[in-house]
Amino acid sequence: MINKWIRIVGSFLSIACLSGLFLLSCCSKTRVSSNLFNQWMQSSDKIKVLSTVAMIDDIVRQIGQEKVLHMSLISGQIDPHSYEMVKGDDEKLRMATIVFYNGLGLEHGASLSNHLLNHKNAIALGDVVARLVPKEIIYIDRTVDPHIWMDISLWSLIIDPIVQEFSRLDPESAEFYKNNGKNLLEAMQRMDKKIYHAMHEIPSSQRYLVTSHDAFNYFTRAYLANPDEEYWQSRVNAPEGLAPDGQLSSSDIQYIVNFLLEKHIRTVFPESSVNRDALNKIIHDCQKKGLKVHMASSSLYSDSMGGKDSGASNYLDMMWYNTSTILSEWEKN
Ligand SMILES: [Zn+2]
Repeated sequence: MINKWIRIVGSFLSIACLSGLFLLSCCSKTRVSSNLFNQWMQSSDKIKVLSTVAMIDDIVRQIGQEKVLHMSLISGQIDPHSYEMVKGDDEKLRMATIVFYNGLGLEHGASLSNHLLNHKNAIALGDVVARLVPKEIIYIDRTVDPHIWMDISLWSLIIDPIVQEFSRLDPESAEFYKNNGKNLLEAMQRMDKKIYHAMHEIPSSQRYLVTSHDAFNYFTRAYLANPDEEYWQSRVNAPEGLAPDGQLSSSDIQYIVNFLLEKHIRTVFPESSVNRDALNKIIHDCQKKGLKVHMASSSLYSDSMGGKDSGASNYLDMMWYNTSTILSEWEKN
């Protein structure tokens, strides 16, 4: 883990040199409160930041604090992979001083993707991370895995590009943004270590994870694998691919059933933004083979964060919520 953070910190030094960040845009079908939306539309003296997903919006909030107006385009338990623009999104996009999105193929709904690519002031933060630490990016069957927020050390790399942009737009407050970014980085480093140690309370032979879709590869590599483990991918599996689409064959189901049998896994984890049908079918098929597998009592948060009283309403709480949920299910077994 030390080596990982050395690589990450090293990349911070080069971030300041980045320019020409990718363009993008936004839209919205969000459930942003009318109050916030009115503030956004009426204010002219604050930086208006539109982020596609809540995981970015929360980092923006912590760096910009009271000096920025921030909104997430895709909020609630909505799948960002296939999100298409709805009425009102154009307006938010047009009003935004700056738009942040994940990129790496996450926001691939055609209407949103087109707007992001043609927006004058949009930055694909995941693409920035990929340029800084290309070897850390995971590919599944030659397709890039966009879920980089699942490894806190990687997600911390979006801090500096955001600080840089805010400082460029509001130079008088540059020190403010820099200090907030520094404090946030320290909090992220603490949580990164905490999650690693919590997950390693589970014996290596039982440290496996089955979820709804392929959102936990980065999490598995960072927190479930042993140091420098070559075959860490054998610790994680999901019936649906990098983007959940509900198109599953019986062989997809059987593949996961066999994985559960082979690794003696008793629990599968639903995700808050993904349909549970595939996992229910897997459990049913396992029962027919005499294998007792159950659905975890709480959903994991993968592509979205929780609501106000969920315990997962900000990024670091969400990461700890997932960790606690996995740990408590293991303790039950
Ligand atoms: Zn996903």
